[in-house]
Amino acid sequence: MAYRAEYIWVDGTVPTSRLRSKTKVLPDDKKDLPIWGFDGSSTNQAPGDASDCVLRPVFSCPDPIRGGNDLLVMCEVLYTDMSPHETNTRALCKEVSNRYAAQEPLFGIEQEYTFYSNGRPHGWPAGGFPGPQGPYYCGVGSDEIWGRDIVEAHTTACMKAGIAISGTNAEVMMGQWEYQIGPVSPLEVSDQIWVSRWLLYRVAEDFNVTVTLDPKPIEGDWNGAGAHTNFSTKGMRNSYDEIIKAAQALGKYPEEHVKNYGFGVDKRLTGLHETARWTDFSYGVSDRGASVRIPWQCEKEGKGYLEDRRPNANMDPYVVTRLIVNTCCSALEEG
Ligand code: ADP
Ligand code: MN
Ligand code: MN
Ligand code: MN
Repeated sequence: MAYRAEYIWVDGTVPTSRLRSKTKVLPDDKKDLPIWGFDGSSTNQAPGDASDCVLRPVFSCPDPIRGGNDLLVMCEVLYTDMSPHETNTRALCKEVSNRYAAQEPLFGIEQEYTFYSNGRPHGWPAGGFPGPQGPYYCGVGSDEIWGRDIVEAHTTACMKAGIAISGTNAEVMMGQWEYQIGPVSPLEVSDQIWVSRWLLYRVAEDFNVTVTLDPKPIEGDWNGAGAHTNFSTKGMRNSYDEIIKAAQALGKYPEEHVKNYGFGVDKRLTGLHETARWTDFSYGVSDRGASVRIPWQCEKEGKGYLEDRRPNANMDPYVVTRLIVNTCCSALEEG
């Protein structure tokens, strides 16, 4: 039987790109995924009089929603001369991660997000606020937890797709959740973060709930949504000194990193709610108020990884992993 391939790509919406997708029906004898195209004038990627953009498949996996032989296909966007489109941040990520492949960089990303229904965070009372933060993080019970059915369906979908999902938890703000992808290589984690986000929006559709990656959905005494980015190289997985060197390297270019860690990063990195202020840089063991945290087990064992706590939930993983690999791997190479 013929099968469906859902072609997914990152658009040109400013200041934060959105996901788009459309379905291609392929004959059953067609196993390799063809190049395809779309109307870039409808996605802020091209002018109307030269609207064609090219989709090139870069990663595919079983479609856990449709099942059968159907696929999800992550694509990169190209101009019609096959050069990377200006919105294609994957191309540079690939170049940089190839350059430092010998260091075997690995990433685990903690993707936080917030469910919305009826125009407010899922579970919040109309025109008001729920009780203050405290009981919701990793909570249980229908007075504290909203959307677990969606979270379970999304986790199952990621597992069926073969995505490297490694856990989920309810977050500090009611209606806010997290899942983790990794540890896998820079391109793998980035492709899989984008596909897992697509699956999250798609699964939530069936529950009439929406998802936002807004880094600070509610002002005031409510946690924002981040994408803590855990990183190691082969050297760091063997030596604590290398972890410290990588943390210090991140401290050399704090502005270049933070300004590319997602729109509105200054709204979230206030210095409150388990964040360091976006204008400051610090690293520390177990310190959830530092920009970069070294988990206590890594200090104890003298090896492991570090956690860059600054990226926003709405960050582009191709950009964040590329910056971290470039900054840390170049410093570690110098010794
Ligand atoms: P926390 O909430 O305490 O910050 P999580 O358990 O949510 O931590 O996330 C930790 C992440 O670290 C996971 O995504 C995991 O895959 C990742 N991780 C574990 N070991 C490594 C490693 N050596 N290199 C990179 N990431 C790692
Ligand atoms: Mn976490
Ligand atoms: Mn979290
Ligand atoms: Mn974390």
